Amino acid sequence: MNEHIIIIGAGHAGVQAAASLREEGYEGRLTLISGDPELPYHKPPLSKAFLKAADAQPQMLRAQAFYDTQKIELLKGRRVTSVKPRPHTLTLDDGSQLHWSKLLLATGAKPRRLAVPGADLAGVFYLRDCADAARLRDALATAQKLVVIGGGFIGLEVAATAAMAGRRVDVVEAAERILGRAVSPTIARHLHAYHESLGVGISTGCGVAELRSEEGKLRSVLTSDGQELDADLVLVGIGALPETELAEKAGLVCDNGIHVDASCRTSLEDIYAIGDCVSFRYLSPERVLRLESVQNATDQARIAAKAMLGKEAFYDAVPWFWSDQGERKLQMAGLSLDADREVIAGDPHSAAFGVYLYSGERLVAVETVNRPGEHMMARRMLAAGFSPPVETVLEGPAALKAAMAASQ
Ligand code: FAD
Repeated sequence: MNEHIIIIGAGHAGVQAAASLREEGYEGRLTLISGDPELPYHKPPLSKAFLKAADAQPQMLRAQAFYDTQKIELLKGRRVTSVKPRPHTLTLDDGSQLHWSKLLLATGAKPRRLAVPGADLAGVFYLRDCADAARLRDALATAQKLVVIGGGFIGLEVAATAAMAGRRVDVVEAAERILGRAVSPTIARHLHAYHESLGVGISTGCGVAELRSEEGKLRSVLTSDGQELDADLVLVGIGALPETELAEKAGLVCDNGIHVDASCRTSLEDIYAIGDCVSFRYLSPERVLRLESVQNATDQARIAAKAMLGKEAFYDAVPWFWSDQGERKLQMAGLSLDADREVIAGDPHSAAFGVYLYSGERLVAVETVNRPGEHMMARRMLAAGFSPPVETVLEGPAALKAAMAASQ
């Protein structure tokens, strides 16, 4: 049978995998199937710059010429409805079938839905793709009162943008602090105060009981602690779930994502998976992760491309992420899950500082606000396994740089 690699999903992961397969020397037939009708685009700007300008266009990951010259058959606006591992086939939404020799699932994630009375009212929005963002932007142009349900990255980015554009904004967060366990308490406190300085009202430790309407129109959000927050627009940002439906039906092992090994192989031969849709053991048998980040999607894509071509490749990248909230650029490197203490570099009441997270003597993560140079250095330190002494962190970036150079 002829070689034919098919990639399902043309987000950050799928597009990078197609590019990497060609870079790694794959010359056979290559098809990239995208459920989205647009030419594949960057997702992060959708909750940032895209919402600010009425004429902003999605930023393409690659120009059409890239797919043409690389001989990548890009099927846009087409969904795969089933995958059959045994005859190595898949079915598209028009009933047609394609044969694959190797398959890569890069199906991403979908927003977790709100399940309270009124959740299906017009005026309730989710944000995952370009069409969602365009609808939200149109609605924000005329809305006066926005309630964001969920104090996670996407919700807070939109909250800051809307508040800076003069809208009344409230954020309702079920946990005791915004951004849950994704950031250190110091960063969460800093961003909480920053949002409040923009005029955003934040209620933590309270859920949503009901969305209320008047004559069929969204009117308010009733919280579990009895507040009634006026709203003519609601953005629900309560997390994302891995898109595993195809994989589950095909019989692949899934557990909070399609389970893959360090080479991005699933439980069935010739099927690989990457990006937001996968869970994997990371550097230890106990730690199973699912990461939602551009870094993870593109780094796994490079590994999967190699592995699919029979080359040895293992995923051990240092995770990193960023979030732009108004004038705050938050950047994170490493994983803070094991951290048992934090060292603060600079003044957390100022607009630029860093938090170094340690597990014992080992540096495990660094979070910075408006310090991009330090973030890049942190990535290098973590990749090199270099744990600076606390005094050096407190001395500042120049001392850190010197200590890092001396350690190599
Ligand atoms: P996706 O980009 O979700 O792509 C999956 C694609 O698969 C989708 O286009 C979908 O249509 C397609 N698909 C699914 N099922 C099928 C099917 N059956 N048939 C055909 N196609 C299918 N990350 C950061 O690091 N920093 C940020 O600041 C940041 N901001 C973000 C802001 C927003 C609004 C969003 C939504 C995400 C943001 N992220 C950010 C997360 C980042 O965008 C994701 O981690 C990344 O997009 C994951 O890439 P992916 O290719 O795995 O999934």
